[in-house]
Amino acid sequence: MYRSDTCAVPSRSKNTGLSLRGVHKTFHIKGKEVKAVDGIDLDVANGEFIALIGPSGCGKSTLLRMLAALENPTSGTVEIDGRPSAELAKAHRLGVAFQDHALLPWLSIFDNVALPFRIAGRPVDRDRINELLALVGLSEFERARPKQLSGGMRQRTSIARALALQPGVLLLDEPFGALDAVTRRHLNGELQRIWLKDSITTVLVTHSVDEALYLADRIVVMSSRPGRILQVVDVPFGRPRTREMTRSKTFHDICDELTDALRGLDQDTGNTS
Ligand code: ADP
Ligand code: MG
Repeated sequence: MYRSDTCAVPSRSKNTGLSLRGVHKTFHIKGKEVKAVDGIDLDVANGEFIALIGPSGCGKSTLLRMLAALENPTSGTVEIDGRPSAELAKAHRLGVAFQDHALLPWLSIFDNVALPFRIAGRPVDRDRINELLALVGLSEFERARPKQLSGGMRQRTSIARALALQPGVLLLDEPFGALDAVTRRHLNGELQRIWLKDSITTVLVTHSVDEALYLADRIVVMSSRPGRILQVVDVPFGRPRTREMTRSKTFHDICDELTDALRGLDQDTGNTS
């Protein structure tokens, strides 16, 4: 099969990219401890696309938030290019797009994509924003407000915003989770196109095995909470991925294998005991 062992996952290039070492995260809720993430070791090479899948509540978002330096690990280290991820976050080198696209409703699409420049205290690069709006197919909507757009268009806006400052790392937490299957498939194609252009190191959290296989170089499967890495699957398809590939026997076989692996895992009930 396409498994590789998970304890020490080798990086594919000499450049470090992302490096998680012995990462644990425990939350304290009303006097109870909730161990969310338990001993994650993972290297992601520069330019690599990783998909993170696992049952609900297994710590995927927590892991991504630690990569984004929005959360500190209880123990262990999270480094990007050999430096703590907080340093890259401060330098505005991380692009983040989460499921609730968090666009500001009173700003136009243009101004939403321009927001990272304002937050970073940098002059707004209008050419860059126009380039990104063209890249995600929203040039004609730059003056629209978010509520005038479809869910898919809002999600594309949020991805454009994540790319605004030319991040070294792109972190996506179920960005297409709320979309219908056809729109989702279309945006998967768009995301691949964007990723192929710059090969930004990307970590995508997704519930969709199909989406993970279509987009990722490697798929990391996490266990039920506390989240550990159960297996890492090398995706054996070249680039660019095509819809024909998704109809192949190999694609279906890996899809089935991953779906079976996930089916055997408990979903988090929210019970903290
Ligand atoms: P996933 O994204 O895989 O669904 P999460 O990372 O959101 O899982 O959550 C993992 C576990 O950690 C869950 O049990 C969740 O309730 C808990 N958790 C996440 N964030 C917090 C927080 N800020 N405070 C307390 N518990 C949290
Ligand atoms: Mg989540």
